[in-house]
Amino acid sequence: MAIIDPELTSHLPQKLTAITGLDALSHAIESYWARSTNDISRLFAIQSIETIVNTLPNLIKNLDNLELRKQMALGSLYAGLAFSNTRTTACHSISYPLTIMYNIPHGGVAVSMTLGKILEINKENIVGVDELFKAFSKGNVNDIDDFIKNIFRISNINDKLGNYGVEKDDIPKIVSSSFTKGRMDNNPVPITKKTIRRYTY
Ligand SMILES: [Zn+2]
Repeated sequence: MAIIDPELTSHLPQKLTAITGLDALSHAIESYWARSTNDISRLFAIQSIETIVNTLPNLIKNLDNLELRKQMALGSLYAGLAFSNTRTTACHSISYPLTIMYNIPHGGVAVSMTLGKILEINKENIVGVDELFKAFSKGNVNDIDDFIKNIFRISNINDKLGNYGVEKDDIPKIVSSSFTKGRMDNNPVPITKKTIRRYTY
């Protein structure tokens, strides 16, 4: 049994609200395009994406609003119901070394910073890609990357790797550690080390 109580999140500070909210969004998007996706998970994923894109920007400016907290709890739950059956993909896989080696927060920073670029790589191979874009446009955004960058901006989140102590020479080591089994090989398009270097760093 799971008890979802949005009141428990009512004192979450702005940055953590944004970071965890973007993590839930990443769960939904990655579940939607996962190699192991399915019709039911995609339904939950779309519901999650629509809920989060309509709620998170408002919530970041109105942290005390319990109705918005409830909507985010629901959006996060839908994402959980989606990705518990599909697992995540390249973005989560690339995020793990960033968090383990440099303490870059999971979700909002380490995962979602590559969502837009991985979408570029994946988009020809996403089942029902139009539905995915439509879910975003319901929140008056056309571009996933713009949505994420806006959340970073309004919640003062730093998304520059250099500010977390990542040096240019570290990139090969990070790229080599980016291949978690069950995540990277669950991406709809095969990803190589060269692709990660070229598109994400
Ligand atoms: Zn996550």
